[in-house]
Amino acid sequence: MTEKSLQNCGKCGLCLSVCPVYKTLKQEQSSPRAKLQLIKAHDNDTLATSPLLKEIVSKCLMCGSCAANCPSGIDHYSIFMEMREKMVETLGETPAIKSLIYLLGREYRLKFGVGLARTGQKFVPGRFAKNHKLGNIPLKNFPKLNDIPFRKANDEIILPDKRSGKRSDKKQIGTVLYFTGCATNYLYDDTGLAFIGILKHLGYKIIIPKNQTCCSIPLLFHGAKDRALKNITTNINALKGHAVDAILVDCSTCGEALKNEYPRMIEKQGFDPLEAKKIAAKVQDSLSFIDQHFDNLEFDSNITDKLSVTYHAPCHTRNSFGSHIIAENLLQKLPFVNYKKTVDVNECCGGGGTFFYEYPKVSKKMVDKKIENAKAVQASLWTTDCPVCRMNLAGNLNDNDNLQVLHPLTLIHSALKQT
Ligand code: SF4
Ligand code: SF4
Repeated sequence: MTEKSLQNCGKCGLCLSVCPVYKTLKQEQSSPRAKLQLIKAHDNDTLATSPLLKEIVSKCLMCGSCAANCPSGIDHYSIFMEMREKMVETLGETPAIKSLIYLLGREYRLKFGVGLARTGQKFVPGRFAKNHKLGNIPLKNFPKLNDIPFRKANDEIILPDKRSGKRSDKKQIGTVLYFTGCATNYLYDDTGLAFIGILKHLGYKIIIPKNQTCCSIPLLFHGAKDRALKNITTNINALKGHAVDAILVDCSTCGEALKNEYPRMIEKQGFDPLEAKKIAAKVQDSLSFIDQHFDNLEFDSNITDKLSVTYHAPCHTRNSFGSHIIAENLLQKLPFVNYKKTVDVNECCGGGGTFFYEYPKVSKKMVDKKIENAKAVQASLWTTDCPVCRMNLAGNLNDNDNLQVLHPLTLIHSALKQT
């Protein structure tokens, strides 16, 4: 399949104009087109496995922009993942990435690892945090880990507000399932709390399965297919069989996993993908869902001042859901928002899962450009619906930049009328 797909590349170069890595480095070997040709040569046994080949293939944000814009319909995503797996099988991974894969492969390990990191955050000396970085992000700018994991701190079943939104009938209007992902669970519980608040306000009963785990995308991107499959099975078991109107995600990368990768991976292993497909059909991103219910939101009429807000469209929001336009329209509809569009709203920020850590110099160039353009529109809030983008954007701001980065859900929730 890969071979046939690779043959389809007409070398037109359209993918070069949308590839953030190529646009930053301006080297043919960084382009999606070149990666495909190298993979083809490797498949044909005319190019040997080497650390250089691994680096060329890995220096990619897995943003999906090449696939979304390729006129030949090439599935770069699957081809790159397959190749990454082959490279890791032969050449292994760095100790840091190996540790990450180990932690993400089991929820109890992740919980333990996050617990240690949380303690570390409390005791790391200020000067050390100021002078050391993780990838391109100074330690002092790393977000504080949640005191209690979000799923532990919240009930598995949450009922709607008695009088919700603009409804006066006091009835529950439906049930949704919330897949929280690791970031909301361990890092940004403000996003999860805001989403619960909005869904309750709208009149939804919310189910947050306790036994969900990492969506597996970081594992798949690092060639750890077997570990990824275990997480996929755990999540399918946690999400299947609920009579819900929608399965909601606050992170479009988790959404990409549930919507596209789960059915594909299950089918590839020769198993029946029925449950994965049923789940995929119900997956929806948080902002599209809220936009559909916009007329039922009741905002606090005491808020009269308008906030200047801008937006960064994460790659998976654009390429997996195509909902970046909805997100921008939603922000513009908010009565308390003065929306300021940046010239590069749809450009990648360079976060890309672990890209900011593995290729800090390239990532830094990308994020600095984003920051420059965000500052140019003079907004006070920068919203984005991806936790890694949020971490990367916020982590690279200077103390005097006067720009706060958060999920649009937090902004929307903060302006709702209290019931
Ligand atoms: S856009 Fe598609 S067909 Fe054109 S060079 Fe890129 S991969 Fe090949
Ligand atoms: S997935 Fe994104 S970063 Fe990777 S080659 Fe394609 S466009 Fe470039």
